[in-house]
Amino acid sequence: MKDFPLDNFHGFGLAAPLNAALAELGYRRPTPIQAQAIPALMKGRDLIGIAQTGTGKTAAFALPILHKLAADRRPAPKGGARVLVLAPTRELASQIAESFRDLSGALSLKIAVVFGGVPHGAQIRALGQGLDVLVATPGRLIDHLDARVAHLGAVEFLVLDEVDQMLDLGFIKPIRRIVRELPTRRQNLFFSATMPANIRALAGELLSDPIEVAVTPAAKTADRVEHSVVFVDATKKRDMLVELFNDATMSRVLVFTRTKRGADRVAKALDEAGVDATAIHGNKSQGQRERALGAFRGGKTRALVATDIAARGIDIDSVTHVVNFELPEVAEAYVHRIGRTARAGNGGRAISLCDHEERDLLRAIERLTRHNLPKIDRRGAAGPKPAPTEGRAAVRAPAQVVQRPHHSPHRDARSVGKPAPRPHAGQRQRFRPTRRVER
Ligand code: AMP
Repeated sequence: MKDFPLDNFHGFGLAAPLNAALAELGYRRPTPIQAQAIPALMKGRDLIGIAQTGTGKTAAFALPILHKLAADRRPAPKGGARVLVLAPTRELASQIAESFRDLSGALSLKIAVVFGGVPHGAQIRALGQGLDVLVATPGRLIDHLDARVAHLGAVEFLVLDEVDQMLDLGFIKPIRRIVRELPTRRQNLFFSATMPANIRALAGELLSDPIEVAVTPAAKTADRVEHSVVFVDATKKRDMLVELFNDATMSRVLVFTRTKRGADRVAKALDEAGVDATAIHGNKSQGQRERALGAFRGGKTRALVATDIAARGIDIDSVTHVVNFELPEVAEAYVHRIGRTARAGNGGRAISLCDHEERDLLRAIERLTRHNLPKIDRRGAAGPKPAPTEGRAAVRAPAQVVQRPHHSPHRDARSVGKPAPRPHAGQRQRFRPTRRVER
C-alpha cells in the first residue's frame, strides 16, 4: 500500500515561502491525499478527490495553487479573484480561508471569505480591492454577482469542496450559474466525500481529463477496530507497556514508536521485562529485518517494535494488537497503523499511550476517524493541571481508571476522581489495566 510515498514535503518542489510555512505549521509528512494530489496539480491537471475532511485535503489543493500564484505574481483582479473556492457552509469556508492564510506564509496574499448571514459591506470592500483567493458559499456569491460587485472573469483556479454536501443543500443551480461566469481556461479541483452518479456527472461536465484520487475513509477502518487510549505520563509509558503484556491475548503485537532510537529502547525495555521483542527500522540491515519478521511471524517474538516507515509494506496476518507507544504526528498514520490489526475485514485491537503533549494529536485522530476513542486514565492523581508535585504524586498515589462513554463529546481527562461512567452498552472492554503499575 503506497500510503506514504513521500517522507517530507521537499520532493514536491514547492516555492520556498510555502516550505517555510509548512515547517512553521509543523507539517512534516504529506498525508496520502497530499502525496497523491500535489504532483498532479503542480502539472496543471484537473482533479477529482474523493476524500473527507480530516484527510488533509485542504492543504492538498491549497499548496499547489499557492505555488502557482507565487510563481506567477500578478496584481489581484479588482472585483474578483485568481482563485475561487466554493464550499457548502460558512464554517468550512472560514476554515479553508484560514488554511490558505496559514499555508501562504510570507507570500502576503489577499484572501477573503464571502458567506451569508452577515452584512455585505465588508465583503464588497474586500472584493473591490481585488483578491488572490476568494472562498465563498454559493448563495452569497450569487448575490454579489447579481449586484455586479463580483466579477469572475479572472479566475484561474476553481475548487469545489464537499460537493456532495453542496448538492444536499440545493446548490446545484448556483454552482452552474457561477461556473458560467468563469473563463473556460482554468484548472478545476473537485472534492467530495462520496461520488454517486449525479456527482460524477457534474464532475464530467465541469472538469477536463481529471485524474482521480481517493483516500480510504478513515472511519471505515476505525469501525472495525476496538480502540482504547490510555492517558499516561510520558515517563511511565514503558512500565505501562510492559503491564499491557500481562494480557495473554496480546500474542502478536505491533508496537509503533516515532523514532528509530525509540524503537530500540522500547524493544530493549520489553526484552528486559521478559517479553520477547525486536525492533525494525531503517538502520537495520535487510538480514536483521528479515530475521525479526520471521521470528514475529513464527510466534517466537510477541512484539515487533517499528517506526511508521519501517512498518510500510510489511505483510503480517493476525496481528492481535497494535500499540501506539507514541501517537503519530499525522492522523492518517493512525489509520494506517491500526489497519495492521484489521486485515481482510477482520476486527482488531488498538491501544494508544497518550501523554499530555500528545492531546492535540489525539484530537486530530478523533476528528479524522470520527470516533471518540474510549479513554482510560492512568496518570498520577494530580490531574492534568501541572501541579508542582505532580511527578511525585503520580508515583505514590494509586492510579485511577476512568472509562469515558463512547459518545461523549471531546473531553480530556479532567474528570479524574469523579465516579467512572458505565461503559457504553455493547462496548466490550477487553483491556482492563490493573490499578497499579507493576514495577
Ligand atoms: P483537512 O482535511 O484539510 O480539514 O485537514 C485536517 C487537519 O489536518 C487540519 O487540522 C490540518 O491542519 C492538518 N494537516 C493537514 N495536513 C497535514 C500534514 N501533512 N501534517 C500534519 N497535519 C496536517
